[in-house]
Amino acid sequence: MKLWLDGCLVDRHDRPDLLENGLHYGTGVFEGIRAYATPRGPAIFRLADHMDRLDQGAAVLGMTLDRPALEDAMGTLLAVNGFSDAYLRPIAYYGNGQLHLDAHRLVARQAVAALPWTSHLGEGAEDKGIRMAVTSLRRNDHRAIPALKLCGGYVNSIVAKLEAHRRGFEEALFVDGEHVCEASAENVFLVKDGRITGVDHPDQLPGITRRTILEMTGATSRRVTLEELLDADEVFLTGTSAEVAPVTQLEGRRYGIGPITRQIQRAYQDAVHGRDATRLSWLTFPEMALAAK
Ligand code: PMP
Repeated sequence: MKLWLDGCLVDRHDRPDLLENGLHYGTGVFEGIRAYATPRGPAIFRLADHMDRLDQGAAVLGMTLDRPALEDAMGTLLAVNGFSDAYLRPIAYYGNGQLHLDAHRLVARQAVAALPWTSHLGEGAEDKGIRMAVTSLRRNDHRAIPALKLCGGYVNSIVAKLEAHRRGFEEALFVDGEHVCEASAENVFLVKDGRITGVDHPDQLPGITRRTILEMTGATSRRVTLEELLDADEVFLTGTSAEVAPVTQLEGRRYGIGPITRQIQRAYQDAVHGRDATRLSWLTFPEMALAAK
């Protein structure tokens, strides 16, 4: 499998430098983006929104990205690897084998990987639903590390998910004592008496799937207590990787997979696969851009 690194196609198994700053301190920023097969060829979903969020994270780290090169690399990798459904992972991180903490003296490297798609929540999570535990950990405070896709920040999610797995659950929910924040890599929605609510919290990643579902459903976005989530009729998670995934259990509370969750799942699939004519502006067709060059 080919990856793209600083302008060159490289083999996946080329050895990285073990002294790169990003490896030691998580000084990097990444995105998780999906390309989907559509009737007009492979399309990248909400590419501009993902790249805007990548740019915000890069700015925090004092990096300037070559955005056109990264976007071109995604189209190239889809074409050379023959993918139409794929996960795209652009990453920018500090390299140069220097282990000091002065990022202004380091050089940023930029890379993109394209992977054939498999769900990180396990195959069929969108049909079976997810069993979720409340983690004992607090979410990274946005005043300590901004709620963006900064590499090092993910240690928080990974440790919470390990704890959930040890307790026999598949996913971890961050709660700040009273209010719900987010899951390890998804935002949270609830349905109560037919009304859809997107959980809002200052420490949550501003999810692009969350924004998509808010825009498609007109749902309210607000703070939600754990008590309210436990009392909901339906709960679902949203994320580029998870898409719209029903929650069937939160600690001892079980939920059915409700009709509103199912309806939102179908509407989301229609949007990402280019079957909803009103949502075509969310799709970028890289093959067409490459062919025009
Ligand atoms: N929260 C976290 C911590 C995440 O890593 C993700 C995945 N990017 C999400 C929420 C969902 O964001 P998005 O819908 O943009 O993928």
